[in-house]
Amino acid sequence: MSSTIDLNRFAQIKATGHLPSPRGVALAVMRMTQDETVSIADLARVIKGDPAFVGRLIKAANGMLFRQRAIVSVQEALMVVGLPAVRAMVLGFSLLSNYRKGSCPGFDYTHFWSSSLIMAVAMQVLAGRVHLVAADELFSVGLLARIGELALATVYPVKYGRLLAEAADKPGTDLTALERQALAMSHAELGTAMLTDWGIPPVFTAPVHYHEHPGDAPFAADEREMTVMQCLILARNVAEICLGMPIEQQTLMGRAVRLAAHMGCAREAFVDSCNEIARQWAEWSRLLQFGEAVLPPFEALSGGEADESASGQAPRRSGGGREAGHSIVAEPGLRALLVDKNVAERARVAKVLHGVGIRVFECGGLGAVMEQVLDVQPHMLVLDGGDDPLHAGRLIKTLRASRIGRAIYILLLLPADDVTHIAVLEAGADDFFTKPAGSRMLLARLNAARRIVQLQQELEHEREELRHFVSELAISNRCLQEAALTDALTGLPNRRYSHERMQQEWSAAQRHGRPLACMVIDIDDFKQINDVYGHDTGDMVLRQASDALRMGLRGKDVICRTGGDEFLVICPETSLEEVRACGERLREETRRLTIETGGDVLRLTISVGVAVEDDTMSDVNELVKKADHAVLLAKKRGRDQVASEGDAARDA
Ligand code: GH3
Ligand code: MG
Repeated sequence: MSSTIDLNRFAQIKATGHLPSPRGVALAVMRMTQDETVSIADLARVIKGDPAFVGRLIKAANGMLFRQRAIVSVQEALMVVGLPAVRAMVLGFSLLSNYRKGSCPGFDYTHFWSSSLIMAVAMQVLAGRVHLVAADELFSVGLLARIGELALATVYPVKYGRLLAEAADKPGTDLTALERQALAMSHAELGTAMLTDWGIPPVFTAPVHYHEHPGDAPFAADEREMTVMQCLILARNVAEICLGMPIEQQTLMGRAVRLAAHMGCAREAFVDSCNEIARQWAEWSRLLQFGEAVLPPFEALSGGEADESASGQAPRRSGGGREAGHSIVAEPGLRALLVDKNVAERARVAKVLHGVGIRVFECGGLGAVMEQVLDVQPHMLVLDGGDDPLHAGRLIKTLRASRIGRAIYILLLLPADDVTHIAVLEAGADDFFTKPAGSRMLLARLNAARRIVQLQQELEHEREELRHFVSELAISNRCLQEAALTDALTGLPNRRYSHERMQQEWSAAQRHGRPLACMVIDIDDFKQINDVYGHDTGDMVLRQASDALRMGLRGKDVICRTGGDEFLVICPETSLEEVRACGERLREETRRLTIETGGDVLRLTISVGVAVEDDTMSDVNELVKKADHAVLLAKKRGRDQVASEGDAARDA
């Protein structure tokens, strides 16, 4: 079950300033493109301020296969590719440049960006193959499809590192479930909220949201969102093949070939696409200095697989989402995987299974069972164990040790009265019957199996509801907590939050011997605005002023509204000179602000008091008190200025 992140919650996380966000030229472009009247010439001028970015933009724009003619300049890229696509590219490349390293242990930043780049290129290449109406944003959609993972690693480096380690320790663990349990949100939810916040349209954000759990997707088979989602799933598959261990590549390729076929892309065409994706990925890798890319032998990888699956083609599914990784569409009815290399016997048993409404997936030999189990996730496995009992025994034991395999009802077919085959049964099968079994006997066994599977399903359903309820509760609790720490008017963290956060930063600064600074900001003559224009206008001014202050801050600073027109900014790892410079920037930022009241245009100034932690202070309150005194000093000296304790001595 997928849900979207609570908007307040997102605003709160955003307000901490720790979310990955565009910087420099990218931030300027994002801001400029919010204005519909911005000229292409102006935009091009700003973009040219970052030569590295210019090269990337032109390369990405030329990656669109349907272009007739090479794009050679920024201006041309802007005109041909269009503003939304350029905006998304700027965003993607900015994040890629600024978040190539981070402090989350266990989060492989290089692997993350390599995988995202492959997805970006794959989205462009695959869109042409599966007749997805060409969309220039696809490159960036691929590049940013996994941004929620990077965000969790950036906002909660230690906690998320622990979750990743836990998931790595237990293969098969559902990371999303762990994230929801520990953080009350998943990477998909956070990623979607970020993309939405950056103005990426829903036709892309919704497929990104669901591509890891396509069974939950609400898209109809013929909707564009469905095709975008399938492309994302396939792009992710290709990235996994490119970056996977050789031992896994063949299995991954087999799955990808089948998925591509479901989407109407034949094996040869898909292999061609993979080669093209890998070629482009290698170019990007060199350009971005990711190291030399090792290109997988797609042709060979796809050839071996095709033979094995030919004997047990999974039926084509319709509607709903399709396979991604190990997930599959939740369809009504039971699924059985039938494994028997004797074609006639398989057909006979399949007919009996069909007769009782069970959906049958056939498999011609033991070699392909594990992969088919992952793909089909059957409720029941009907397995001929007679031919190679040792292999069958090992297979059942392996299945029973896995999360998916534990729940499968395993029904064995054994030759009559052979005691050596008891061992296979002991490996963990639920029931057996001896061959040749009459249809009546088979039916009786199947009915018993079906009852047990249905009971198991009901149980699982109840458990799922309970899990859902618990996670909803966790989210509501967190929302309540957040509401208690958020200022309702401006959406900034409130005074209570500022106390807690200041205390945390103080302890961290003491522990690591790092400087800590803070600013107290008070709007000048704010009472007059209330008096002249009314309280509602006063509220509006407060909201706009807090937005301007927030925009003017550095990523690591935290701003809180601590009183009527008073704000506290916490500045970790900051010296007195730096906090002064920061205060000056905020002062300038506020002076530039113009506020429309319907009649007059209002302008504001602020007074800023700054202070840094020093050896004479015994606790955090002394630091805040110093900044409080400093802001009074700034008021006394005439307002619209930054002051610190030292200024008083100079004045005297
Ligand atoms: P100074 O330059 O000395 O700071 O003068 P000032 O007029 O800004 O004085 P002060 O900071 O003491 O005044 C803050 C005012 O903010 C007082 C109160 O009426 C107003 N205020 C407090 N909370 C709110 C609020 O939520 N909305 C509005 N509109 N006004 C508020
Ligand atoms: Mg004031």
